[in-house]
Amino acid sequence: MDPVQASISLSSGKGRMKKGRPVMAMKDRVLALLRGHEAARIRFTVPSASVPVTINHVTFTTVANAIVAGKIGVSPFASTTRALAEYHQPAGPTAPSTGQLMVPPILGRIEEAAVMHESTHAFFDLTTSNITATEEEAVSYIVTALYHRMTGLTPTRWTGAEPFISAKAVADALLSQYQAGVSGVPAVQAGQFQTLMLAVALDPTYLIPASPGAGTPAGLFGGFLGGPVRYVHNG
Ligand SMILES: [Zn+2]
Repeated sequence: MDPVQASISLSSGKGRMKKGRPVMAMKDRVLALLRGHEAARIRFTVPSASVPVTINHVTFTTVANAIVAGKIGVSPFASTTRALAEYHQPAGPTAPSTGQLMVPPILGRIEEAAVMHESTHAFFDLTTSNITATEEEAVSYIVTALYHRMTGLTPTRWTGAEPFISAKAVADALLSQYQAGVSGVPAVQAGQFQTLMLAVALDPTYLIPASPGAGTPAGLFGGFLGGPVRYVHNG
């Protein structure tokens, strides 16, 4: 939304406002993203994961349908140094009763990719997947990297560090298969996926608890070495 539209919305007094932005507009933008060109094109399987993983247009329409049905909410989110966007489980008596996709107010391509990443987490939650947390993060980073590549984001803007470096390698291999017209859903190569999982497990975001005592299920000490740990997936 540009500033002119924003001021029109503000002065019209229509719609529920939160932090100066209509909540509906944010939800509509997320739905458009989940039903958009890139979401329709992203497709891969991960044969080396501990559970069957297929990410394709069904993944994103499933999340879009859950938002429309009120099963997942879209809430405004102030990006932090740890996250541009988040997916919150329905947890605790004071939390909303549905999963919440936490979305920053301004959506450029980097934030859109972050919303696609969090929507992938939402999909695993909706389908009550038994995937491990590190695998789930790795899969979500592949979605991030595919979105960055498909929208032509300059690589120097996002490949300065892991896990993006390893995720880009996976995305590039998948895109070369899309471009070669390989039919069906291409598979992520096992060695590349292992490299990406290790990059995720070693990333400070997943290695260091967000708050004292908080878990680090995707980090090296949270599960990667000590056995599989999963995010809560209660649908
Ligand atoms: Zn994630």
